[in-house]
Amino acid sequence: MPTVASEVGIDLGLTHYVVLSDGTKVTAPKFLRRTAHKLKRLQQSLSRKSPGSNRRKKAVIKVAKAHAKVADTRRDWQHKLSTTIIRDNQAVYVEDLCIAGLGRTWLAKSVHDAGWASFTAMLEYKAARYGRVFARVDRFLPSTRMCSDCGRVGDKMALNVRAWQCPCGSHHDRDVNAARNVLAAGQADNSNDRGAQVRPGLVRAPRDETVTSLSAVRSTRSSEAIAVPQNGEDVNGRNPCGTSDHRTRTCDAGGVGSTS
Ligand SMILES: [Zn+2]
Repeated sequence: MPTVASEVGIDLGLTHYVVLSDGTKVTAPKFLRRTAHKLKRLQQSLSRKSPGSNRRKKAVIKVAKAHAKVADTRRDWQHKLSTTIIRDNQAVYVEDLCIAGLGRTWLAKSVHDAGWASFTAMLEYKAARYGRVFARVDRFLPSTRMCSDCGRVGDKMALNVRAWQCPCGSHHDRDVNAARNVLAAGQADNSNDRGAQVRPGLVRAPRDETVTSLSAVRSTRSSEAIAVPQNGEDVNGRNPCGTSDHRTRTCDAGGVGSTS
């Protein structure tokens, strides 16, 4: 692929599948939801069949086929989108969401359905294949409420706030602003790797890690003064008190707030 000049930050979200820092918004196509609806009906039909019956066996096969079709359709669509993004940009930065954490919240179904993990994995390997830069901005970044023009960090925003005005006068689309912050943070990380100056106040993530930086994310998150399960939680993501719901809070701070 020929070298191009543009670099892009990506905000992964639920209202739009991805929002790019250049303002492009990509909605997940309706056919994904339609096939999901069909799947639900098949599943219900299966549950009405009596165990061991021939009708049940047939229904099981139908459900399995429908599952495979949903997965195939989504994968094809993700391939097209990721190829386009890699082709059009020399560097691609994505906010590393706590997808595992989001998956345990009320947004779980949408999150798993979105398949961001496989999508960002595609971006990553295609970037490597075509000589593009790919990096996850893998620390807590107040990407939603930070003004991408002046850097001022505002108050937390409810999920339904789609646009906002910064005291500096800039008017922001919530998701585009987040994507622009992801781009800026990614570029700062990247230039830091080459020995340049980093914006003060940003905690740099260790260079070679992309996935294993949960502890770094947590440590910065704790400064957000919210009830966050810290390192006391066990490997299952549970709190010492035995509930896993607290995770919701963790991701409210970073993931959900900044993605939707
Ligand atoms: Zn501002």
